[in-house]
Amino acid sequence: MSELDTLIRLLAKLPGLGPRSARRAALHLIKRREGLLEPLAAALARAAEAVRSCPICGNLDTIQPCAICRDPERDQMAICVVEDLADLWALERTGAFHGRYHVLGGTLSALDGVGPEELNIERLVGRLKPGQELILALNATVEGQTTAHYLADRLAGRGVTVSRLAQGVPVGGELDYLDEGTLTAALRARRSL
Ligand SMILES: [Zn+2]
Repeated sequence: MSELDTLIRLLAKLPGLGPRSARRAALHLIKRREGLLEPLAAALARAAEAVRSCPICGNLDTIQPCAICRDPERDQMAICVVEDLADLWALERTGAFHGRYHVLGGTLSALDGVGPEELNIERLVGRLKPGQELILALNATVEGQTTAHYLADRLAGRGVTVSRLAQGVPVGGELDYLDEGTLTAALRARRSL
């Protein structure tokens, strides 16, 4: 197999890229050798060398523990539990959360054979301190909610408050356009004015 075939085969493993788009991406890279291919190869090599998973929270960073776990300005008493890094990044983009994180690395799924031992749960239990608030920011999917219930049961009696994100009407959303599940969740999570 040629180097080009290897490149295409590897690119095709990226999320959102199939064999056809991988071939296009490979050609695009090769046509822009100096502007794109070489800087990308160097960035990949540096990332492979330097980026590691934080031993406390599972975030990715070049320092250990990660910058978020080291930051003394961030509230140690609030830990936001997320399914994966993309969710952590999404929450960081809002700038609305000033605590720490814990990345589970997935959700429980009987169908896919993912049990509690496959997720980063033991380290979460190990880092908890009484009085902390644990915010379960898990996806509103069956797996996300199963995982939330498992964690709430598992952490009961440890002196931590467990909360989860509200579900409901999105900002700018019109009721007429919402699916029944979202509308039902919004109604259940209503607040007094
Ligand atoms: Zn960390």
